[in-house]
Parts: sequence; C-alpha cells; structure tokens
Amino acid sequence: MTINNLVNEYFIVNQEKLKKFENESNNIKIGIMGGTFDPIHCAHLAIAEFIRDNYKLDKILFIPSGNPPHKDRNITDKYDRYNMVLLSTINNDDFIVSDIEVKREDKTYTIDTLKNLKQIYKDAEIYFITGADAICDIETWKDVEDNFKLANFIAATRPGISLLIANEKIKELKDKYNANIESVYVPSLDISSTYIRNQLKRNKTIRYLVPELVEEYIHSKKLYNSGE
Ligand code: NAP
Repeated sequence: MTINNLVNEYFIVNQEKLKKFENESNNIKIGIMGGTFDPIHCAHLAIAEFIRDNYKLDKILFIPSGNPPHKDRNITDKYDRYNMVLLSTINNDDFIVSDIEVKREDKTYTIDTLKNLKQIYKDAEIYFITGADAICDIETWKDVEDNFKLANFIAATRPGISLLIANEKIKELKDKYNANIESVYVPSLDISSTYIRNQLKRNKTIRYLVPELVEEYIHSKKLYNSGE
C-alpha cells in the first residue's frame, strides 16, 4: 500500500476514534499535546505517553498547529504535518489526532482552541502539554490569563532544557495569574524537530528518531530538502 493510501485509511480510522471519544468524554481528563510538529518525532511520542501515564489522563489529543502566530521561518504545509502526526499515533488507542487547528484558515491561537474544546468536551478537565521553553514564552500568547482559566498546563522538559529556569518562570506565572502549571522532567531522547530538519538538509539519517512511516512520508514528499 502506498503512503498516500495509508494516510487516507488512517484518516478514516482516526475520525472514528475522535467521534466515539466526543460522545463519551464527560468527566474525564484529556491531555492536549499542542505543537507545530515540524516534524513529529519519537521524543514527542515518549513525552505524551509518559505524561498520560503519570497524570492518569484518559486520552491524549494531538493538535498540530495550523497557522502558528509565532513562527517567522517557513513551516511545512499544515496538512503534511498533520499527516505525519496521524501516521505516528494510529496504533495507540489512547492517542487521537484533532484537525481543529489545521482546518482554520486564519492564525491559530491556543485560546481559541481551548474555547472550542470546552464546547466539545463539556465537563472534561484539560491538561495542555507542551515544551517548557514554549510555556516560558506564554506571556506573549493571545489572552494569556484566559488560557490559564480554561486549562492546566504541563511544561515538559527534556535533556538540554533547564528545569531550574523553567521552574522560576512557572512560579512567577502562578503568582501573577493564579495559573495551574507544573513542570515535569521527561526522560526521553535528546531530539528536537530542528535537529531532524538539519539532519535531512545534510542528507543524514533520521532512522529511529522518527517513526518509520514518518521517515517514509518525508522521503516520499521530499520534505525538508531531503533527497535533493
Ligand atoms: P515551539 O516554540 O516551536 O517549541 C518550543 C519547544 O517546545 C521546542 O523545544 C519544541 O521542541 C518543544 N515542544 C513543542 N511542542 C511540544 C510538546 N507538545 N511537548 C513537548 N515539547 C514540545 O512550540 P510550538 O510547537 O510552535 O508550540 C507549542 C504550542 O504552543 C502549540 O500548541 C502552539 O499553538 C502554542 N502556542 C500558542 C501561541 C498563541 O496562542 N499565541 C503562541 C505560541 C505557541 P520540538 O521543536 O522538537 O517540537
């Protein structure tokens, strides 16, 4: 089966998972894994699984950002980023991908996504998971205080990211906004999307750093200047 056929098949399976989840999602804890995912890699998946397990979350909803307001470099087409997240998560029953942000035409702010999620998952408790460095910049986000009213935040740190600096910032945010934020050190591989993109640009291997199907997708679409 070609990678395009696989994406189409997985899209249908994921939509079914999503619909089922929407119908039975009251009084549950949902982890929202928000990110540009350019591309998704094995550390993202390890972080999501680690946090799901540690916080006893019922499901993790991956939300690839559509048109992120804070990115000035050229980012990969949102549907390619979405497809790679789909290919990475389909085999885990606790992971679901949402196209809530990629479907939007205008800039995608987290506050709009959280409001939307609160309408769909009415009584659910939301845990927004992202990198500690992204959380440290949260005061630049739209309607910063309202974000904290709608969700708990989990700042995932990993090798190379100082827990001490993140914790200082988190304490400041908690005091200022009465925010519910926790940092969690996730023992995962020291890989980042930037590293993956650089490896590809230099025609170097990304094997075992991303799921096999993501590697196949990247090469088949010649993303990140791979194969040039
Ligand atoms: P980023 O600024 O590109 O990433 C900051 C760091 O966090 C990077 O080291 C990144 O590593 C890591 N990271 C990103 N997503 C992660 C995740 N879910 N778990 C663990 N680490 C993660 O961040 P981004 O990916 O573009 O944005 C993160 C989230 O914040 C998105 O949902 C975005 O929409 C939201 N955001 C909202 C606003 C706003 O509403 N105004 C502004 C900024 C960000 P990798 O490069 O390896 O992923």
